Amino acid sequence: MSNEVMGAPTTVERGVDDPIITVRNVNVQFKMGSGVSHVLKDINIDIQRGETLGVVGESGSGKSMFVDSLLDAVVEPGILSGEIVYYPPEGEPIDVLGLKPWELRELRWEEISMVFQGAMSAFNPTMTIGEHFEETLEAHGRDKTEGIERAHQLLTDLHLEPERMLGSFPHEVSGGQKQRALIALSLILEPEVLIMDEPTAALDLLMQRSILNLLYDVKDKYDLTLVFISHDLPIVSGFADRLGVMYAFEFVEVGEANEILGNAAHPYTRALLKSVPNLATPLGEMKQIEGESPNPTNHPTGCSYHPRCPLSDDLCIEEDPAFYDVNTDHTVTCHYWEDAAEEIPLSFAEEEQR
Ligand code: SF4
Repeated sequence: MSNEVMGAPTTVERGVDDPIITVRNVNVQFKMGSGVSHVLKDINIDIQRGETLGVVGESGSGKSMFVDSLLDAVVEPGILSGEIVYYPPEGEPIDVLGLKPWELRELRWEEISMVFQGAMSAFNPTMTIGEHFEETLEAHGRDKTEGIERAHQLLTDLHLEPERMLGSFPHEVSGGQKQRALIALSLILEPEVLIMDEPTAALDLLMQRSILNLLYDVKDKYDLTLVFISHDLPIVSGFADRLGVMYAFEFVEVGEANEILGNAAHPYTRALLKSVPNLATPLGEMKQIEGESPNPTNHPTGCSYHPRCPLSDDLCIEEDPAFYDVNTDHTVTCHYWEDAAEEIPLSFAEEEQR
């Protein structure tokens, strides 16, 4: 990529940590006949180099819009604003939203790669899987022989037979094999960051777990940073270093995965944990979250969770909570986060202790 678009943003401080992507004040709006639809609200987060960040939340909470924005891939007529900076391992930081279209195309495959939701149908049925690899290598001016060697290695790493896989048409392989081939394809240009949007949602549980285990090894081997989107909290929490919980198009809680699982401070996160089976909440104690997520054209005043929150009061209705520090690497947007654990126990056992 040319140097002319590169330049350190003035408003982003690099902390003592080592972020690979910083996101500041990012919003996405769609202007519609019925008003303005806010589908991403004031996102501020750092993605650390080498980490696995799991982004969780109910369907329609803004998870996909968040990852689309990281690649400046929000579809028209969406208006994306704010600042997203990518820090390559060497060279100057890159202002993602300031890139020209051809620079963005390079960034998308060569630095930050993404396996989109519904990717199982991403392969062209008239081309072999090998031709997909060749096409990508050619489009980015890469040496085909070297690239196909790398494809062999990646497919082997993902427990696939390279020769057979590269010579097959997409319909000739199973869903799990296709998904793994797609992960290999997304890594063919040696990106630093791999974003996966609900990558295993269409697969059965066993296959999901086996692909995640392979992905874990691949991440280690190739020093990747992973951003993993899922509505399935148990799946993602066993895999991620940190979790970001989204509700109503914004992050409401961010922290280390173990800390969030054991010490969730947002009433929504606690409700989410109670709605799925896990160690703290066995199957018989699961509880659906009552109510519905807000409509993007009509956000509630104050805290967007207040219509569903058992702790809500006048302050919550009037004032949108800022981020509070629970500890050094755990933040939450709730006025009453200190009461959440006591007021919303995760299990009957905890409830009896109250
Ligand atoms: S700020 Fe109020 S309504 Fe929002 S999550 Fe906290 S207690 Fe509930």
